[in-house]
Amino acid sequence: MPLSWVEIDLAALRHNLLQVRKRMSAHTQIIGVVKSDAYGHGMLPIARELVSGGVHFLAVSKFWEAQELLAAGIRHPILVLSGIEPCDMEEAIRQQVRPALFRLDHAELMSRTACRLDTEAKIHLKVDTGMGRLGVPYERAPAFLDKLLALPGIKLEGILSHFAAADESDKSYSELQLSRFREVLGELAGRGHAVQFIHIANSAGLLDLPHAHFQLIRPGIMLYGSPPSQELHFPARLKPVMSLKAKILQLKDVPAGQPIGYGRTFLPEKPSRIATIPVGYDDGYPRLLSNQGQVLVCGQRAAVVGRVSMNLITIDVTHVRQAKEDDEVVLLGEQMDDRISAEEIAQTCATISYEIYCSIGRHRFKYFLNGAADL
Ligand SMILES: *Cc1c(COP(=O)(O)O)cnc(C)c1O
Repeated sequence: MPLSWVEIDLAALRHNLLQVRKRMSAHTQIIGVVKSDAYGHGMLPIARELVSGGVHFLAVSKFWEAQELLAAGIRHPILVLSGIEPCDMEEAIRQQVRPALFRLDHAELMSRTACRLDTEAKIHLKVDTGMGRLGVPYERAPAFLDKLLALPGIKLEGILSHFAAADESDKSYSELQLSRFREVLGELAGRGHAVQFIHIANSAGLLDLPHAHFQLIRPGIMLYGSPPSQELHFPARLKPVMSLKAKILQLKDVPAGQPIGYGRTFLPEKPSRIATIPVGYDDGYPRLLSNQGQVLVCGQRAAVVGRVSMNLITIDVTHVRQAKEDDEVVLLGEQMDDRISAEEIAQTCATISYEIYCSIGRHRFKYFLNGAADL
């Protein structure tokens, strides 16, 4: 057993998938978003669980992630959200991996390659309706469609866009994006073209914009057990999937005034009991939690004192009389009746739960717990 580890609760994932299903419209299916190692949770076990839970598609960001899914024997439709580069085009077509497509030169290469392979390449056209990031700008989509639909060897299987602010309580910008998206859908229909899959909703869109569900929804963060933002009206009861735990490596009584850690940023005012925990910023525990974070020991909160080091932190357990060396410490997750959530850590660090999951998820030791589904 390592000194510190990440636990991934697959029963919680199943629970969250059920919460997604309860909220999506009839005839809508799910794209399970497993990019960035499933937000740090471990792409393959998460993808397998989602596939067995009946998701229709998997989405990754890069083609190499799709290759990892395929190499692991996961034969499920895969969408690559950042598109496919020319060097990977032939392989992607052979494997029937679908790109989110937003560049005409990529479409032309795809068309030529598909024709040479005597096959049809499936794509999902990405439209930028106001995110300002990837996608054909919506006002240029009609001209793009004219060129795209004339290319042989390409099947427009889907069309998608992405919300910029669906996690805000004010939905007016999302509605504007949605109306632009509908304009493009109208252009498509006007050309006598029916696509099988229309999709725009992320977790926030799923929860708050039921008229934006279309044929597919693309939840990510909700599957991992966090709300998309603090601001969102949030009806779902989710279960966090990831925990970060460690053991007390050393416990010591220190006199008042004894500096703790790099930079001597913490000096106890009274004699104190300090526990050293083998987790640091190398394990994704943010250095911004220096003198700010809290952890759970024996079901009680203990403060991170001094700086977070690369592989160690120090916590004040003066008030936790029963704490002893080798006791389990929870840095993210639940212990007895209390919980340190990714949202709580994110708030202290002025970031979002997504980033906390991604960084803690790089921890070397992960354990996948496949408990009975508690639904
Ligand atoms: C990451 C991502 C999602 C999932 O978003 P969540 O907020 O995690 O639900 C959906 N669509 C696209 C294009 C994404 O990049």
